[in-house]
Amino acid sequence: MKITENYQINNSLKTDSNSKYCIECFTKDDLIEFHEFVKKQNLPVLIIGDCTNLVLPNFFNGIILKLCFGDINFNNDHATVSVGSSINWHQLVLETIKRNIYGFENLSSIPGTVGAAPIQNIGAYGQEVSNLIKTINCYDYINNKFLSLSNKECKFSYRNSIFKNNNLIIYSVIFGTNIYSELNLEYDSIKKYSNLNDIKLSNISLNQVSELITNIRSISLPDHNQIPNVGSFFKNPIIKKTDIKEENYSLDDLVLWEINSKDVKVGAARLIELIKNQLDKSENVKVSENHALVLVTNEHTSQDEIISYAEHIQEKVFKNFNIKLEIEPTIILN
Ligand SMILES: Cc1cc2nc3c(=O)[nH]c(=O)nc-3n(C[C@H](O)[C@H](O)[C@H](O)COP(=O)(O)OP(=O)(O)OC[C@H]3O[C@@H](n4cnc5c(N)ncnc54)[C@H](O)[C@@H]3O)c2cc1C
Repeated sequence: MKITENYQINNSLKTDSNSKYCIECFTKDDLIEFHEFVKKQNLPVLIIGDCTNLVLPNFFNGIILKLCFGDINFNNDHATVSVGSSINWHQLVLETIKRNIYGFENLSSIPGTVGAAPIQNIGAYGQEVSNLIKTINCYDYINNKFLSLSNKECKFSYRNSIFKNNNLIIYSVIFGTNIYSELNLEYDSIKKYSNLNDIKLSNISLNQVSELITNIRSISLPDHNQIPNVGSFFKNPIIKKTDIKEENYSLDDLVLWEINSKDVKVGAARLIELIKNQLDKSENVKVSENHALVLVTNEHTSQDEIISYAEHIQEKVFKNFNIKLEIEPTIILN
């Protein structure tokens, strides 16, 4: 276990953020040592991966935990793969594609680590990581207990899981590698992109799908290494269709996906596009020109400024559509 004091937290929004301590754990024994350290210090804990989905304060008066579990082990019959938390997500996608394993390709190029992927059940282009997970190995750092949770026990739903707001450190994830045998190319933007670029989807390889998805993402999402952001800042809300206010806009102006006879999932990006001209200017934060769901910053911003701009957007959306937008990234309070 490695301890660093007064640690600068490199994050994709590029806020100037530090913590009192950063602890790096390399083994399961280190995790037990971490538990002792936390007990002694009596400070709050924040587990981090690559910090691509966090809105951090200037100073976190607590303990940052960074996991250094970097093994990938495919079992002999290729039915499962066990992956350490600190492995980069896209690296895992490429490893599966190399072995002709289906199911991961639509999740190509999502930033971050394997350990963080289950937290908000990462998803894109019609796939969610929960469809690929068999078991999650974790450690309860308050009660000093190792446990393995089945997929069902993780209670996955849209951008959510049991891991939000608990004391569990994910140190490895076991994925099923024989769950899918076909490509999923049904998502609208995949079809549009392939039509525009004359790509025949009928005999496309796994690798070509991964590249296609990466290309679509690079057009529609700002690269967080160049323009600070955390990806989508709001979730697509699921609401009763009849609750939508239709005074200023008609339902045809919106993007709606039917969930059942009453409920719809609403495309939040379209809501923000429609009210964009009603938004005040903020010095260091704005709505991305590539994708209205993404807030981008200029490296001089703070958590306060980002949150108050997000609240301003939430107010305008609520006033116009009677729809409450929920923030997607994790906000870490001081
Ligand atoms: C440009 C861009 C595009 C994105 N596109 C998508 C997308 O298409 N779909 C999508 O779902 N997300 C997307 N995201 C969000 C982000 O990629 C995911 O949320 C990713 O899983 C975050 O990984 P991370 O390692 O950076 O986690 P962090 O940001 O470091 O942490 C995120 C959360 O996970 C917790 N956590 C991290 N590691 C562990 C662990 N080992 N054990 C327990 N808790 C842990 C943290 O405490 C925190 O609550 C995007 C982000 C960016 C910047």
